[in-house]
Amino acid sequence: MMVQNPDIVIVGAGAAGIGAGLALKRLGVSHLILEAKHRVGGRAYSDTSSIGHLWDHGCHWFHSADKNVLRFMAEKIGHEFRELPHAGNMQALMNGEWTGVPVEKYFVWELLAKISEAGRSGIDVAADEFLDRGHAWYPLIRHWCQMMYSMDPENISTGDAGNYSDSGVNLPVKAGYGALVEKISRQLPIQLGVEVTAVEVLPKVVRVETPSGKIEAKACIIAVPARSFENGRIRFTPHLPKRLSQAFQDVPMGWFEKVAFAFDRPVFENHENPFADIFDPVAGDTRPLNFELHPFGRPIAIVHATGSVGRELLEEGEEAMKAFALENLEKAFGHGIGKRIVASAASSWGSDPFIGGAYSCAKPGRAKARAVFSEPIHERVFLAGEHVHQHYMATARGAYETGLDAAHRARNSGGLFRRAKRPALASYLISWTFSRRLPISAGIMINPQHRGTL
Ligand SMILES: Cc1cc2nc3c(=O)[nH]c(=O)nc-3n(C[C@H](O)[C@H](O)[C@H](O)COP(=O)(O)OP(=O)(O)OC[C@H]3O[C@@H](n4cnc5c(N)ncnc54)[C@H](O)[C@@H]3O)c2cc1C
Repeated sequence: MMVQNPDIVIVGAGAAGIGAGLALKRLGVSHLILEAKHRVGGRAYSDTSSIGHLWDHGCHWFHSADKNVLRFMAEKIGHEFRELPHAGNMQALMNGEWTGVPVEKYFVWELLAKISEAGRSGIDVAADEFLDRGHAWYPLIRHWCQMMYSMDPENISTGDAGNYSDSGVNLPVKAGYGALVEKISRQLPIQLGVEVTAVEVLPKVVRVETPSGKIEAKACIIAVPARSFENGRIRFTPHLPKRLSQAFQDVPMGWFEKVAFAFDRPVFENHENPFADIFDPVAGDTRPLNFELHPFGRPIAIVHATGSVGRELLEEGEEAMKAFALENLEKAFGHGIGKRIVASAASSWGSDPFIGGAYSCAKPGRAKARAVFSEPIHERVFLAGEHVHQHYMATARGAYETGLDAAHRARNSGGLFRRAKRPALASYLISWTFSRRLPISAGIMINPQHRGTL
């Protein structure tokens, strides 16, 4: 049954909104989630129909999986994922020749580590400053920066890269990351197809406007992508604080689109590695592409187009995106491969009116701006979403944790819930931990004893 006058209204049913809803449910606080799309999950979206096999348009991997609360939830409910990291991750086709370990280990990973280390040591400049543009393999590291951060290296803050907490354990979700977020949301009060167009903070309530009417609540959690603030799609009264508007300019979203091909039978059986990068290093304007081949034995290939390459291809349109992906596949696997394709589909995150991009990435010199997203807005409004997390930004798990955090902060915020029932012991302990303002990624998220309660 839908809650008509919730204590807290949550805008957006992505991983962050679902995290907030689950935390409020456990705290016994009435709430309602409003979602503009006709499905839950946001950038967590498992598609089973377009190509006849499951593929995730958005998130696909449990990153830092050894400490990932969503991985522990998947384990608990038997949602399948790969349990061991892939051994050799990548091969690159350069000038028609396959090459493996040297590129992966001594070029790509070393440079990515150098960028993060610079950030950790307090240097906040463009990632590009650590790359040699004259190097024949420059397009490859540029492309890997684009995949990791969804931006081109000249627009990536080393400080932001250094803040990301990477355990190096990354596991893809066999049964679908989107399907997982949808499963854990099933007990929550969610209204689909309801776009929030305005949020008004009044002395005693927050009023949320939708095309089908207004809802009033004591507090509001806004769990929509950062782009909605950058482009003013949701109107705020009073205006957003200036430092927050500035933070949205400082931490914009980049681009990451996928093309999925299904084949009439397995076609990469002789290819030893599940991942491939395909590019011509000599051409300065080369646009490398990364492919995932036969994930979980499915006869499919998933193509990743990221950063400005993703943006340009999206602007050229879906057919151009597919044609470019196929052209690169043919370079590596021969022209016969096109004839084996039985279905294809593509994501469109960048042009989706409710998403508007891939994930957030701070501009060079602006790594500290992210912290502003954790500040309450006019005391009653709290932000959640991947952009809010200080250490697991750009991930579904980061989004989920900020939802938990926003729920506890909203619940504990000055005077709003003075008469609320004392929460159950487990919830109380969680509230206590959050009220001490531990960093979001602090122990409680990764302590095995809490796996079941979050
Ligand atoms: C191609 C791609 C690959 C990725 N790969 C990974 C990966 O492997 N692992 C990983 O952890 N992360 C990955 N990510 C990032 C991850 O998907 C996101 O960080 C995470 O899902 C974001 O969750 P969120 O709740 O912050 O936002 P979203 O999932 O975007 O949810 C926001 C919700 O708000 C809704 N909304 C927007 N405006 C309104 C409005 N006005 N009114 C009501 N509702 C509204 C939207 O429809 C949406 O459902 C990937 C992302 C992309 C795009």
